[in-house]
Amino acid sequence: MRQKIVAGNWKMNNDLAQTEDLLGQLKNQWQENEGVRVIVAPAFTNLHHAFESLRKTSIDVAAQNMNENSEGAFTGEVSARMLTSIGVKTVIIGHSERRAIFRETDEVLAKKVNAALENDMEVIFCCGEELNERMAERHFEVVKSQLGKGIFQVSEAHWKKVVIAYEPVWAIGTGETASPEQAQEMHAFIRKTIAEKFGETLADDVSILYGGSVKPGNAQEIFAKEDVDGGLIGGASLKAEDFLAIVNAF
Ligand code: PEP
Repeated sequence: MRQKIVAGNWKMNNDLAQTEDLLGQLKNQWQENEGVRVIVAPAFTNLHHAFESLRKTSIDVAAQNMNENSEGAFTGEVSARMLTSIGVKTVIIGHSERRAIFRETDEVLAKKVNAALENDMEVIFCCGEELNERMAERHFEVVKSQLGKGIFQVSEAHWKKVVIAYEPVWAIGTGETASPEQAQEMHAFIRKTIAEKFGETLADDVSILYGGSVKPGNAQEIFAKEDVDGGLIGGASLKAEDFLAIVNAF
C-alpha cells in the first residue's frame, strides 16, 4: 500500500544506553503525524530493546540487514525468523554500504528479498547509482538493472510488502543531495519501470522513498514531489529533533 514513510537508518551507531536515550527523546517529542509512517532501524543488538520500547507507539522498527538463509552454519549472521521472533517485521535490503563494503551482489540481494517475504516481512529495497555512473549518464540503466535483478522476481501478491528506496550513492553521507527534480525524475522512472513489468495499478501503489543527505532544511521540497513518498534518512536520523523535523516536513 502506498504510504508516506520516513525511515531512520541508524547504521552502526548507538550502544544500548545511547539507543535508550534516542528512543526516549523520540517518544517524548513525537506527535503523531497523521498520514506519515515512521520507522527506525537500530543495530541488531538494540532491536529487541527498540521494539519493546516503541511497542505502545506507532513507530515501527526495522533491521538494517539479514541473511538469506533460514538457519545453520553462518557465523555472525541473523535470519528472518530471528528478527520476526522479536517482533521486527521490516528489513532494509541492498543498502549501498552493504553492496559496496560487504560485496552483496544483486543475486544475493534477490535471495534476501525472497527470504524476507517468505517470512512475511516487509522489505525496504535500496537502489541507486554511483557518481561515476551518473556522470556517464548511466543512472537509469544502473537502477533498472538493480531493480530487475534484485526485486523483479517478487510475485504480484508480495509487492504490497515492498518499499523502494532510491539512494544515489553520491548523495549518501556526503552533504550532497539530489535536487528535488533529479529525485522526481528517478522516482518517476522507477515507477514506470515497475509499471512496465507489473502494471500501473501495482506501480501506483508502491511507496518510493528518497535517501541521500535529507535534512530538516531540504526535506520539504523533496517530499513535495509527486513520486517521492518519503525518505530513508541516515545521519539526520541520529538526532531526534532533526529526524522529527523531517517527519513533520510532510
Ligand atoms: C543512508 O545511509 O541511507 C542515508 C540516506 O544516509 P544520509 O542521510 O546520511 O545521507
